[in-house]
Amino acid sequence: MPGGARLIPISVVKNSAEAEELVLQVLRSGALTQGAMVQRFEALCCEMTGARHAIAVNNGTTALVVALEALQLKPGDEVITSAFTFVATLNAILESGATARFADIDADDFNLNVATAADLVGDRTRVLLPVHLFGQPCDLAAVTKIAQARNLAIIEDAAQAHGATYGGTRVGTTSGQATFSFYATKNLQSGEGGVVTTDDDALADRLRLLRNHGMKARYQYELPGHNYRLTELAAAVAIPQFAQLAGITSARAANAAYFSQHLAGLAGVVTPVTRPDRTHAWHQYTLRITPDCLTTRDEVVRRLNEAGVGAGVYYPRAVYDYDCYRNHPRVVIGDGHAIAAKVATEVVSLPVHQHLTEPERDQIVAAVHAAVLA
Ligand SMILES: *Cc1c(COP(=O)(O)O)cnc(C)c1O
Repeated sequence: MPGGARLIPISVVKNSAEAEELVLQVLRSGALTQGAMVQRFEALCCEMTGARHAIAVNNGTTALVVALEALQLKPGDEVITSAFTFVATLNAILESGATARFADIDADDFNLNVATAADLVGDRTRVLLPVHLFGQPCDLAAVTKIAQARNLAIIEDAAQAHGATYGGTRVGTTSGQATFSFYATKNLQSGEGGVVTTDDDALADRLRLLRNHGMKARYQYELPGHNYRLTELAAAVAIPQFAQLAGITSARAANAAYFSQHLAGLAGVVTPVTRPDRTHAWHQYTLRITPDCLTTRDEVVRRLNEAGVGAGVYYPRAVYDYDCYRNHPRVVIGDGHAIAAKVATEVVSLPVHQHLTEPERDQIVAAVHAAVLA
């Protein structure tokens, strides 16, 4: 690293003076648990997505858990998700009691390949759970078509896709339910936090029960629930960021466009594709280092880190490819994830966040050029 300079980090958390002010307001009020700030947060999530309902919870994983539980699945019911996602998607399926199966992905956009998902649909399938990986919406029209034909629910894991659009519609409204994460590194963050959005009144009612011990009125329990409530402090951290979302997304998109322009044509380097009918939230800017490259993926990452670029590998394996899942009775691996397994050996994500400076962008471009040489 030149002169021992710091690494350009893959994500940066900056909270505004307005967030500090709101957090202080909460602290001074003494009302720290789910209340007025959480309600404001939920209203902003409705605005972000266009959904009728937003149910705030304590993280993006529990958002998936309650979205699954709201569907009242029975033991043995199956959920089809992507073989290439963050582990939270799979853990939430298992936490809900359901059985997981995996569709392969398209190498172009890293998202679930809908034809391979359709092949997995059987008598026990209840839910399609696609992931908008790295911030680009999956093929929602194709997912919806299968769901309607086979009478399946849809839950979109939009943890990485705040503000992304599909066919002109914002992610979070088109299907049954969508979940977002507000973990510290996500495009919008509250340290820890999550939300489920839906247009369905009955699902919204059940989601509100599930996050708060199944309680309808004081000490009146309708179903066995959880304590998944969001704190007022976390809501206060997130609230000022919603007004910045368009700017955050366009800054990330400008960084992504810059990289794609300046990394075009490098042998063995595939820049990420944006599908024409979608807008990308650019949570990650992810290259593929293919066998045509003179250097291995792992060596590219090592050289980038050495050159001060905090590049990362999201994700190093297919999501189920660990002993704890291979030996799990409710994880059905099957086969046909050749693309997910291959892509996991090729991916490298570069810092693309809205706080990158122009010199940092150029440093990243130069570092990639140098890293892929023999
Ligand atoms: C971050 C993330 C989650 C989980 O969100 P947490 O808030 O960290 O629990 C789920 N799915 C995907 C794809 C994610 O990136």
